[in-house]
Amino acid sequence: MAYDNASAARAPTLAERLDAELRDAHPIEILKAAVAHYGGSLALVSSFGAESAVLLHMLSQVKPDLPVIFLDTGHLFGQTLDYRRQLAERLGLTGIRDIRPLYQDLATEDPQAKLWQTDTDACCRIRKVLPLDRALVEFDAWVTGRKRFHGGDRLRLRVVEEADGKVKFNPLANWTKTELDAYAAEHDLPAHPLVAQGFPSIGCWPCTQPVEDGEDVRAGRWKGLDKTECGIHVARAPGAVTNMGGDI
Ligand code: SF4
Repeated sequence: MAYDNASAARAPTLAERLDAELRDAHPIEILKAAVAHYGGSLALVSSFGAESAVLLHMLSQVKPDLPVIFLDTGHLFGQTLDYRRQLAERLGLTGIRDIRPLYQDLATEDPQAKLWQTDTDACCRIRKVLPLDRALVEFDAWVTGRKRFHGGDRLRLRVVEEADGKVKFNPLANWTKTELDAYAAEHDLPAHPLVAQGFPSIGCWPCTQPVEDGEDVRAGRWKGLDKTECGIHVARAPGAVTNMGGDI
C-alpha cells in the first residue's frame, strides 16, 4: 500500500516501517513482531465473536499471557459470555481482562439501558469507546482482529498502522474467509454458537441480526441504520473527547 506525499517527505515512522516489512507476512509472524517490538506494552482486543478463535489461537502459540481486553458492554449475547469463558480455558489464555462501562456513565446517560433505541452512537460511546480508551491507557500498541474482506473502511486496512499515538497491528488484515475457515478446521477451533444460526458477525444483541444469503459479513450489524462501526477504530480529531469508529 503506497504512502501519501506527506509521508514520503519525512522519515518513515516505526509503524510505517513495520507495515512495509510485514505486509505480506503470515499472521503469526506479525504477532511475533508485535510482541518483539512492544513486549510489555502490548494488548490484544477481542470481541470473542464469530471469527475471534483464529487470532486467539495464534496468540496462544506466541504469548498466551498477553493482556487480552474483552469489552463486556452489558448488552452482549449470553452465548458470547459462555464462549469467552470456554475459549479462554481451551486455549490457555491467562491475561484476559473483562472491561465494563463505568457505573456513573450508565447511571447518568443510560439508566434504563435503552439508549441503543434512541442514540446508538452515544450508547457505543459509553459502553465501548470510553471503556476501551481507559483500558488502553497503559499500552503503547494493540492488536485487532480486523480483516479487509469485511469491506467498508476496512478495505484499505494496513497490517500495521498508527492512530491516536498508539500502534495497531492487524495480523489478519490480508486473510480471506477461506483462510480463516481452513485455519479453524486445522486446529479444531470451536465456533461461536450463533454462527450456526446465521450470525457471521456478532456484537451486542440489540444491534446484531442474522444475515441473508449473499449479504456482507457485517450486514447484520445496526441493520437499517446508517451506521457500520461502533466508534473504536477512527482516529480522534485533535481536542476531541474520544475516538469514534469501528468494531474490534
Ligand atoms: Fe449500544 Fe448497540 Fe453500540 Fe452495543 S452495539 S454499545 S447496544 S449501540
